[in-house]
Amino acid sequence: MAFLSVENLTYTYGQNTPFEKTAIKDISFSAEKGEIIGLIGHTGSGKSTLVQHLNGLIKPQSGQILLDGTDIWADEKKIREIRFRVGLVFQYPEYQLFEETVEKDIAFGPTNMGLSPEEIKARVYAAAQSVGLREELLAQSPFDLSGGEKRRAAIAGVMAMQPEILIFDEPTAGLDPAGRDQILENIVKYRDATGATILIVSHSMEDMAKVAEKILVMNHGSLALSGTTESVYAQADALVGMGLNVPQITKVFLALRRFGIDLPLVYTVDGAFDAILSFRKGGAPV
Ligand code: ADP
Repeated sequence: MAFLSVENLTYTYGQNTPFEKTAIKDISFSAEKGEIIGLIGHTGSGKSTLVQHLNGLIKPQSGQILLDGTDIWADEKKIREIRFRVGLVFQYPEYQLFEETVEKDIAFGPTNMGLSPEEIKARVYAAAQSVGLREELLAQSPFDLSGGEKRRAAIAGVMAMQPEILIFDEPTAGLDPAGRDQILENIVKYRDATGATILIVSHSMEDMAKVAEKILVMNHGSLALSGTTESVYAQADALVGMGLNVPQITKVFLALRRFGIDLPLVYTVDGAFDAILSFRKGGAPV
């Protein structure tokens, strides 16, 4: 039995009204502890609706979500507990910072969990370290931080609840390339340290090529493709057909392969570098 198992989820907004809209249709997938999964799809494909199901913000109309083998809605009184076990970092989470200090903001979630002051403090410091926030920033107002620091403080607030599953909705939106890479690195470091399962909603095939081990592709509310990152990115034509852009480096390699050059399919610049080096070692002309 998988750690997280999503079975046949379907959800329609405004049921039996003129505005009825089926946002997700018959979605099934599973995730194991410690996996990093990328959830990709264009706007309106149903990504937010799906992830809000996973931490109990939306109750399934049909289908179910099993966590460690138990339906998360089996006991409705326990849904609050599920929200601690499955953390959700919304888009632009920095807009939700509101406390006087960064420390209080990061402590907000653990405080709601009813933990002891010592435990809260330990978690706040550990979470700040996980996202690379310097300790002296903890005493400052969140509004005095830079954009990237605010984002990291907001993420630390969810990490401090130590969820077993951590979901990020477009965690790198609006950041510069250095800020984007830093957030992605922090997410991987957090997974390595805690063994948490990570789900990242993203528009960026390039970002997901860097961190995701598995990819789910949503299209018009359905799960169009799923599998290892390699197997999904190998289906470049299908992705382009859904209006999604494969990484630039993958496009270059696909074009070279079309010219008959015997190169593997790559989706990161590092992978391309290795492929070109082994191609040369093979004695073939570059
Ligand atoms: P994504 O996160 O991929 O952009 P969403 O899950 O937000 O997709 O939306 C899926 C579909 O459901 C879209 O057609 C959207 O317009 C519709 N939708 C989302 N939220 C609501 C809502 N609260 N009420 C009605 N329709 C909604």
